[in-house]
Amino acid sequence: MRTRATDRGTNSETPGLDASEMFFHSPNQCVPQSRQHLTTRLLSYAVVTGLALGVSLFFRPCDLSAPEPLLKRYEFSLPRMGTIFRIELYSAEAATAAKAAEAAFARAEDLEQIMSDYREDSELMRLARQGADRPFPVSDDLYNVLAKSIQISGFSRGAFDVTVGPLVGLWRAARKTGRLPAAAELAKAKALVDYRNIELDPARHTVFLKRSGMKLDLGAIGKGYAADQMLALLQSRGLRQAMVVAGGEVALGAPPPGEAGWRVAIETPDMGGANPPCTLLLHDSAVSTSGDSKQFVEIDGRRYSHVIDPSTGLGLEGAASTTVIASDATTSDALGTALSVMPVQEGIQLAQSLPGVAVYMVRQAGNGWKRYASRGFPKGCPGQQRKNKAKGKGQK
Ligand code: AMP
Ligand code: MG
Repeated sequence: MRTRATDRGTNSETPGLDASEMFFHSPNQCVPQSRQHLTTRLLSYAVVTGLALGVSLFFRPCDLSAPEPLLKRYEFSLPRMGTIFRIELYSAEAATAAKAAEAAFARAEDLEQIMSDYREDSELMRLARQGADRPFPVSDDLYNVLAKSIQISGFSRGAFDVTVGPLVGLWRAARKTGRLPAAAELAKAKALVDYRNIELDPARHTVFLKRSGMKLDLGAIGKGYAADQMLALLQSRGLRQAMVVAGGEVALGAPPPGEAGWRVAIETPDMGGANPPCTLLLHDSAVSTSGDSKQFVEIDGRRYSHVIDPSTGLGLEGAASTTVIASDATTSDALGTALSVMPVQEGIQLAQSLPGVAVYMVRQAGNGWKRYASRGFPKGCPGQQRKNKAKGKGQK
């Protein structure tokens, strides 16, 4: 299940930093510099003629004293965190765009080295090995993402739980063997899952794991955090009109030139035939879709998602998707997973209690589908009537 970002109907992914460069002439920009002399001359001529004829002229030309540069669209993509990361941005210069994208991908690589549970030498894995012996000093990034994880765990009363690692290990084993874990194995793993056993010390910047054998898993929040960090980096370099797509997590900056927002296609399990993906128009916000269309295992005719319900220890059953809009992708990513696990109505209530958060859910119901949207979710997806409107930060 994915949240896919599209722009002007293009959805191409260009590998590497020598990415294709697409010309885009914004309809709301001042004319390019090369054409300004002619435009200025024509305007002066109109003013002089108008004054000579005693005609009151009223016009609103764009500010030619500070012409805006012509922006072009650039797109870059690279594999990161087991998926494809994509950057789309508008810049006046190719070199500025490429350097900023390169720095953003380097930031994602650094974060992968911190947060990966596939790399034995990642900071997360070192924390898992040593953090139960004594408080373990961590980087700002790991500290921040764990603090946010604990907050979302609290909001969702443990539906999202970053200590889910031992259960994720069992799910991965089940995918290989085609067998569910034995009851004793499941009970042992479940006993190690409880976010309240993580102790953060803000003064010393340390993390203490209260039970040995605990394993942290940032699979439900790390990509969103990376998307936010990459977008922040692009914006700190003056590239405000940018979008970062990290698998199913999308972080959005200011809208493309002349547009009301970025078009983000929401892929849901009920798509196909008469049901094309619905498209949202968003800016200065984030959107994530959590679901099981690609990551699931089928055992004895039952289908188990890679999203695990910590209360049962098993993957969620039944096809489903949960799309969350929030002000940042760290929040939308983590909440997408949390609201997948929570009962629908509780999830909607939680979304509605959080500023800037809205959710759209699709759940299998027998041979059909049920769709639910919280207050404030932009109209346009199946089950909703009106067309989308662009909404930005603070969407509600
Ligand atoms: P997402 O696709 O964002 O919903 O994240 C799914 C990934 O998060 C899984 O592959 C696991 O690594 C991890 N995960 C699964 N269940 C949970 C859960 N209940 N809380 C936190 N992380 C989870
Ligand atoms: Mg998630």
